[in-house]
Amino acid sequence: MSDAGGERSLAYLSTIPVSRVKLLTGKRASSLNAAGIESVTDLLFHVPRRYIDRSTTAAINDVPLGEEVTVVGTVQTIKMRHVRKNLAIINAVVTDGETFLFVTWFNQKFRVRQLAEGTQVALSGKIERKKGRLEMKSPEADVLDRPGESLVTGRVVPVHPGVKGVGPGYLRRGIHNAVKRSLPVSDPIPAEMRERLSLMDRSAALQSIHFPESLDEVVPARDRLVFDELFRLEVALALQKRRQIDEAVGIAHVRASDGLMAELVKGLPFPLTTAQQRVIDEVQTDMARPHPMHRLLLGDVGSGKTVVAVAAMLTAVDGGHQGAVMAPTEVLAVQHFLSIGGLLAGAGMAPPLEALGMSDLFTQTDFDRPVRIALLTGSNAEVNYRESITRSELLAEIADGAVDIVIGTHALIQEGVHFHHLGVAVVDEQHRFGVHQRVELREKGAEAEPDLLIMTATPIPRTLSMTLYGDLDVSSIGRDEMPPGRPEVETVALAKTPAAEEQWLERVRDQAAAGHQTFVVCPLVEDSLKIEAASATAEHKRLSGLLPDLRVGLLHGQMVPADKAAVMAAFRDRQLDVLVATTVIEVGIDIPHSTVMVIEDADRFGLSQLHQLRGRLSRGVGPNYCYLVAEPTTTESEERLAAMVASDDGFVLAEEDLRIRGTGTVFGARQAGAADLRISDIMRDTQLLVDARREAFAMVAADPGLVDHQAVSAEVQALLGDAVAWLFVS
Ligand code: ADP
Ligand code: MG
Repeated sequence: MSDAGGERSLAYLSTIPVSRVKLLTGKRASSLNAAGIESVTDLLFHVPRRYIDRSTTAAINDVPLGEEVTVVGTVQTIKMRHVRKNLAIINAVVTDGETFLFVTWFNQKFRVRQLAEGTQVALSGKIERKKGRLEMKSPEADVLDRPGESLVTGRVVPVHPGVKGVGPGYLRRGIHNAVKRSLPVSDPIPAEMRERLSLMDRSAALQSIHFPESLDEVVPARDRLVFDELFRLEVALALQKRRQIDEAVGIAHVRASDGLMAELVKGLPFPLTTAQQRVIDEVQTDMARPHPMHRLLLGDVGSGKTVVAVAAMLTAVDGGHQGAVMAPTEVLAVQHFLSIGGLLAGAGMAPPLEALGMSDLFTQTDFDRPVRIALLTGSNAEVNYRESITRSELLAEIADGAVDIVIGTHALIQEGVHFHHLGVAVVDEQHRFGVHQRVELREKGAEAEPDLLIMTATPIPRTLSMTLYGDLDVSSIGRDEMPPGRPEVETVALAKTPAAEEQWLERVRDQAAAGHQTFVVCPLVEDSLKIEAASATAEHKRLSGLLPDLRVGLLHGQMVPADKAAVMAAFRDRQLDVLVATTVIEVGIDIPHSTVMVIEDADRFGLSQLHQLRGRLSRGVGPNYCYLVAEPTTTESEERLAAMVASDDGFVLAEEDLRIRGTGTVFGARQAGAADLRISDIMRDTQLLVDARREAFAMVAADPGLVDHQAVSAEVQALLGDAVAWLFVS
């Protein structure tokens, strides 16, 4: 293994297959490949999950009894007995040269092979004294050394994460070979930056993270490698932002102080909050630039994002462009159509919509310039300027620019909807809207790329907005900046018992008597909308029986759209007291008189979903009640419910969610490179993330082609792979 100049780059090492490493050839190489370790670079990033410091592990005889300890010794004997059909007992005697320790495992047959006589092993668990003997039951056991093999390190033994098919000793010594043969590695980070951030030398960091002389070396070594990993990601994001925004041609919208938005503001039933004004200003400033906007608007449920969306679209419409709103579901698209139509009508800028029926509509002659909006989904084609319209007529009017604002689902950009001159797209609830949809959107713009505003009520902790969404500009409406007058929601976790059920039923009856309404959310059935619908139907029947005096409705995903719309309209018009629904109501539904929500089997929902659901409440009248009915079966689900009871702050809950689930699960394919974080833990490494982001964006700003930073460029390309390749075509 060599490279020009004696130092090897990680980019170069990522082209060397792991099978070239001594001890890791053949079958072991295949096993490593199966675990995602293909190159020497991959192997170098397979860092220890912990270390055993043999200079501080106490003698077996000296450790405190009954406490978690780690001791080191040699296996003297190991035997397995089959006591009965499903019970094998493995007994080992381990000695540190002075004291014998009697170790027992149950049914862990692999121990016999793992711990052959003569193996040096680190055992972690509790030691007890029984009948004068020291015993340990079912400890963790890490092989330090097999008979005849010599330890590769001194006092501190690294424990690398296990790889199926490769013994821990081979793995450790293989990695040792790889480190020895790879060093010194070149360092693409400029010396000035390394000094300023007190980053350790990269070669030293690789040596120290795998084979530290003392445990003190581990933290700075890890910090260095974490920084590098985050820096690579942030460089990719900075380049992506540069290519998608600063170098792309957009529409320079004109900010008219006497335009449609000003007219809307005058006609709103409430003054804009300071936060709404600020965010609208950020949006309009972006829109006025000749480059496309890619902005993320973070605002908890009920923070008043709709007005911001309308402001963006009216800014486009003012200059003769069109706006589009894309919602994740049809129900939500209808909801947006109603609320945007309502806002415009309320301000006297368009004819009023008659609920959902749209039966008697006005002519547009009363308005010198009505804002024309349309709803277009798989099953709806409606407009606010004509009583009825066919789908093909509507498509034609969108294409020739007769329609100002089109509201639909995400399919709007995926299917062949042709805009006359799309100026801005607003995407509601971004989590299903990824990078490649953004590319499709870009292709919608004829000569210039439309502006993009992504709105989400799923609060994104700062750490994620810097990684997952790191190429977007962010606006946010803080918790303390919400529109005034949202009633409190009291959240109660209830067991699944008849007494608890009577408690919430009583509340439902009370509230119905006061003219208020209840959502009953039925459990989520993964992968089967049919079963989900069936269980909601059964629950509807059961509750109708339990609440004979109340009007109980049903809404689920399997209903035809017209029926769904009719049920929603009836609920909105207070012709129903209770709505039994599946999670189709999750986002956006705005029912001012709803005061109670019962979430059944709440333990099956994720934390952000629970928060979204509860966000349907507190829409007008109060007080509000949310009942989480569950028999939690895991610690995680218990923690989720406790978090819901403790807080209604979406940002707090999002952080909590990350803590409970770990960050790995949130990445997925959303963002190139983000899924590749192997060493970093963005919840823990937040400061390094902040540093890496600042440095990466500064570097790309000063040197957009990375011509003075070829090594950085090569490393990002080599380590982040195909996903970032497009960033580097010139
Ligand atoms: P979001 O989409 O962020 O969840 P909405 O835009 O639907 O929030 O607004 C939530 C509720 O608050 C709506 O009923 C809306 O009419 C109301 N609202 C919005 N802005 C204000 C404001 N500045 N003052 C008072 N109420 C407002
Ligand atoms: Mg909304």
